[in-house]
Amino acid sequence: MSKEKTKGQQLVEELFYEAPLAVDSAEDVFEKANAFCEGYKTFLDEGKTEREATAFAQKMLEDAGYQVFVPGTVYKPGDKIYTINREKCVVAATIGTKSMNEGMHLNISHIDAPRLDLKPNPLYESANLSLLQTHYYGGIRKYQWPTVPLSLHGVVFKKNGEKVTINIGEKPGDPVFCITDLLPHLGAEQNTRKLNEGIKGEELNILVGSLPYEDPEVKDRVKLLTMKLLNDMYGITERDFNRAEIEAVPAQKACDVGFDRGLVGAYGQDDRVDAYPALLAEIETKAPAFTTVCVLTDKEEIGSDGTTGLQSMYVFHFMQQLCAAHGADSIACFKASKCMSADVTAAYDPTFASAFEPQNSTYAGKGVAIAKYTGSRGKGGASDAGAEVVNYFTRLMDDAGVIWQTGEMGRIDLGGGGTVAKYVAAHDIDTLDIGVPVLSMHSPFELVSKVDVYMAYKAFKAFNEATE
Ligand code: MN
Ligand code: MN
Repeated sequence: MSKEKTKGQQLVEELFYEAPLAVDSAEDVFEKANAFCEGYKTFLDEGKTEREATAFAQKMLEDAGYQVFVPGTVYKPGDKIYTINREKCVVAATIGTKSMNEGMHLNISHIDAPRLDLKPNPLYESANLSLLQTHYYGGIRKYQWPTVPLSLHGVVFKKNGEKVTINIGEKPGDPVFCITDLLPHLGAEQNTRKLNEGIKGEELNILVGSLPYEDPEVKDRVKLLTMKLLNDMYGITERDFNRAEIEAVPAQKACDVGFDRGLVGAYGQDDRVDAYPALLAEIETKAPAFTTVCVLTDKEEIGSDGTTGLQSMYVFHFMQQLCAAHGADSIACFKASKCMSADVTAAYDPTFASAFEPQNSTYAGKGVAIAKYTGSRGKGGASDAGAEVVNYFTRLMDDAGVIWQTGEMGRIDLGGGGTVAKYVAAHDIDTLDIGVPVLSMHSPFELVSKVDVYMAYKAFKAFNEATE
């Protein structure tokens, strides 16, 4: 028998708000989230680089009946099209029933992730070991990367112009590669370094060989055997590293974390944890009111520069060409469009509680997170969505039963971070930051709540299906 609530208790219920745990929102929500994350884990394992994620996404789109976008073509509502930008970005769209003058619904996430790229002249031998020099990509904490099994992924152009794809360290039975660290017995000097110099950039050298080529008459016999094996496997020579893009990433596969299996642990979840739900939501959208545009972009981690970053025109050119073929004014279209800029945010970490302000933090398990603004030092570099924009998206999510939370990334003036939101907003498109909270973000093994991943998917779906 429930006791009658006091006046004060009733008022608290009526007037206060605290974000609930997403798992409490429905009886079967964890079951659904768990099933959803099986596909997500496959996406993570098959797409460890932007090129691989693009190829995998392209296959998913083709399997779902998407046609390659042909500029100038007049499409009808419900038609599904896609285009690939330089093997590193995906743009997929479903044509809506409304005129494109009324805007499009964009969902943009990124599929590049922090990693170690090989330098242009990477291979050397020292102390009868062969190693590859790297230059880190994105914001990594360098001390986290030694003693982690690594795989190598990328492309190399041979002398004859042929392009070779490399993927080694992932399949069962493959060798892996590794950066070494000093033993604690000899760590006295290194221990006095500041954490950000615990391992320096020039110390991130990957051990790739230890056996010499058989001929004792040559120098650098270990390097020679490594190069000979690379030549046997891929037909490449040392010079070909100059025209290659090879990325070292953790070889570990995505897996469940915790006795209750409530979390996914994997490399590269920033931002594939938003890319996969966004792609599935796009694929499942049938005959939307507004034309939906799902973008999986590259180069977010280093500032969105270059032809494959969101500062390039590739997404906006796609929209302009679509408008032109359908007799729509692209300026009107942009002005009326809305965008969910999907990127991860920090999840509150109780072990490092002082980095956060608890009342305005986002938590693993409390649903997909939105952020009115990101940035650093007084919101610098933030797109800062208007209250009207936040109102639109939060109502949409509430109506669709999406559990969401909001906050800031950590304590004021501790750091901060940006997203692609400002590059979309620069085109006069109303944009809101949204994404899954991550523990140990940018580390070789990031953690997310399965229920939050599922809520991100529900949010993207609700946006695609919106009628106003
Ligand atoms: Mn990100
Ligand atoms: Mn990031």
